[in-house]
Amino acid sequence: MLPVLIGGFLIYWAIFATLGFSDALPMAVAFVFVGHVMTFLGYEWYHMTAHLNIRKFAAEVAVTRSHNMHHFKDFSKMFHVSYGGHIIDRAMGTEITPDHRDKLSRIEFIRTLGMEPYDPRLVAARDIYAVKLGLSEQQRRTAQR
Ligand SMILES: [Zn+2]
Repeated sequence: MLPVLIGGFLIYWAIFATLGFSDALPMAVAFVFVGHVMTFLGYEWYHMTAHLNIRKFAAEVAVTRSHNMHHFKDFSKMFHVSYGGHIIDRAMGTEITPDHRDKLSRIEFIRTLGMEPYDPRLVAARDIYAVKLGLSEQQRRTAQR
């Protein structure tokens, strides 16, 4: 992250200085700060909309579709949650192509968020929520599969 900050700062500073701005240095600092804050907010916006069942624009729908592959096909792939972020997944070798996606089944432990069904954390949570929700023994056994 630091090399990106420094690189971005130097590029902005060079551009503003070349264009003759007398405040090239503070302008470059402001551009880097605002740019990174906006990038982070954009990242969080897309991730939030991907997880909420709300009306979405086309870019948000595209991000939701690709992010679903991360959660429902392969947790070790498709890390991007920004529109156009698939370029980074492709560069890092973590992309799931449409052809490959169709060959993948849903992940094995979808109901346990990727944890083993008998993970002690899940067993403890089931014990607590089964009582709170008044689940039958049959429902508890079904949840453990
Ligand atoms: Zn997510």
